[in-house]
Amino acid sequence: MIEPPLVSPPTLADAYRLLAESVYRPIAGGTDVLVQLSGQLGPPPDRLLDLWRLDELRGIELDGDALVLGALTTYSGIRRSAVCRDLLPALVEAAATVGAAQIQNRATLGGNIANASPAGDMLPVLLATDATIVVGSIRGERSIPARSFWTGYRQTALRPDEIVIRIRIPLVADRQVRFRKIGTRRAQAISKVVVGLSWVAPTSGSPWRTVRLGLGSVAERPIRVTATEAFLEGRLPTPDTAAEAAQRVAAEIQPIDDVRSTADYRRAVTARVLHRLIREAGSW
Ligand SMILES: Cc1cc2nc3c(=O)[nH]c(=O)nc-3n(C[C@H](O)[C@H](O)[C@H](O)COP(=O)(O)OP(=O)(O)OC[C@H]3O[C@@H](n4cnc5c(N)ncnc54)[C@H](O)[C@@H]3O)c2cc1C
Repeated sequence: MIEPPLVSPPTLADAYRLLAESVYRPIAGGTDVLVQLSGQLGPPPDRLLDLWRLDELRGIELDGDALVLGALTTYSGIRRSAVCRDLLPALVEAAATVGAAQIQNRATLGGNIANASPAGDMLPVLLATDATIVVGSIRGERSIPARSFWTGYRQTALRPDEIVIRIRIPLVADRQVRFRKIGTRRAQAISKVVVGLSWVAPTSGSPWRTVRLGLGSVAERPIRVTATEAFLEGRLPTPDTAAEAAQRVAAEIQPIDDVRSTADYRRAVTARVLHRLIREAGSW
């Protein structure tokens, strides 16, 4: 394990200045970065920029019609937050599946986003809720829709001197959001399939509108499956809808075989989970 030099700026402005002057690997909770220090997952970082002292990146609050979470929000913070529990329980459910208590106390939402693993558990929920990732640098802030944030295998739209500063999740009237993670165990499991699904319907008998289906671990990056979304748009959660949507999502994704699962298993489970979510929504 190498131990690269680490700077720990006291303010966000200091962090921006350092990032503008030199190349640093940001470190938040460090639960991914510490694994990267072994050098077994690619070149280890030369220099670390510790974000932990930056209070500007903390806090969970309501801002108009959006839930805003600082990049340093931990999973335990999400689980403890009454605002998250009341307004976006699917986010709390997702946070509760990450690692186990020790990881949840330290690991951050911003770290999950910037780490850009296709298996990142929070990312399908952010896709399903049309979240925006707000990033900052010495040049100012810009907002990147979650849908455009993950650009390839462990690649993001972040520029080298930018960091994630907050996440903005619009709160939509009559929207339902669902989360499911399939892993080997209930804790300390990297997902085989992660699903975030949302739709807008004023009553359980109303057709679905604004359908969003975000998936993890079935492609090189977290994805939205837009053809399946389009199929579900305007439909009721009936048995026919569920059967057809399950077939369509299985055809739309191109998962891979790897040490955690096979492509066939991932395709079958994704279809099954979607079928079940629609069945639960239709109460049949
Ligand atoms: C035992 C164990 C179990 C785990 N279980 C799960 C799991 O079940 N589900 C899951 O999704 N993940 C899991 N992880 C991975 C990890 O805990 C999460 O991805 C976590 O959210 C990373 O957050 P962090 O604050 O620790 O990130 P860090 O390790 O500090 O950083 C991760 C990456 O993001 C960058 N980064 C961090 N914050 C920022 C920022 N604000 N702006 C720009 N770049 C930034 C870093 O440079 C680094 O590349 C697990 C890890 C371990 C070690």
